[in-house]
Amino acid sequence: MSNQLIVAIDGPSGAGKSTLSKALAKQTGYTNIDTGAMYRSVALLAKRQKIDIEDGKALSALCAELQIEFVRDGEVEKVLVNGEDVSRQIRTPEVSLLTAKIAAQPVVREAMVRMQRQMGEAGGVVLEGRDIGTVVFPNAQVKFFLSATAEERGRRRYEELRAKGGEVDLLQTISEVEERDAADCAREHAPLKRAADAIDIDSTSMSIEEVLDFMLQVITKRQD
Ligand code: C5P
Repeated sequence: MSNQLIVAIDGPSGAGKSTLSKALAKQTGYTNIDTGAMYRSVALLAKRQKIDIEDGKALSALCAELQIEFVRDGEVEKVLVNGEDVSRQIRTPEVSLLTAKIAAQPVVREAMVRMQRQMGEAGGVVLEGRDIGTVVFPNAQVKFFLSATAEERGRRRYEELRAKGGEVDLLQTISEVEERDAADCAREHAPLKRAADAIDIDSTSMSIEEVLDFMLQVITKRQD
């Protein structure tokens, strides 16, 4: 059997990370770990429990209780938090913005990084996020940094939200994407940063199939 690699896909929101990591996992038989969904889950629970985002103690207690599972239901991937399916609730624009704030808290990052390392250390995984190649698995055998212009990323997020039946505004979606990226890049702990040894892919004018083909070629070469 080929080597079971750790594949890291980092980059800003809307660059295509989720679609590509799911497709890659399907093609390679690897497990897909959506680390953004993990931070989103913390934000959703903090919102429900009315926890102040500066309250490190309460956030730490929340993370200690948290059980996150990714389960596949046919073609659909679900996120279960303490057994509850939160897949839809973690994707609202409000939770997205709160997530970027919660994800800047060191106690939350420490807890999530620990969980991600446990989930991925045996290999055979595709992890998508912001700090996978720099912090979570700096020794990952394959690292991609996926980007696209802010307008294109905002447009993709807009189409995605609209397809789900949401009431959305294009310009507002672009500015929310920009706001979230600015927070992700500026934060003190594990900011969004390209790993020095990552392979850059600008997906602005590439199709999903083109990016996927390229990624698969890289993975296949490194697997042998
Ligand atoms: O990837 P996604 O858009 O679902 O991520 C939501 C938010 O979670 C990001 O804007 C970022 O603040 C945070 N995040 C992070 N580190 C990761 C993955 C996501 O800080 N590895």
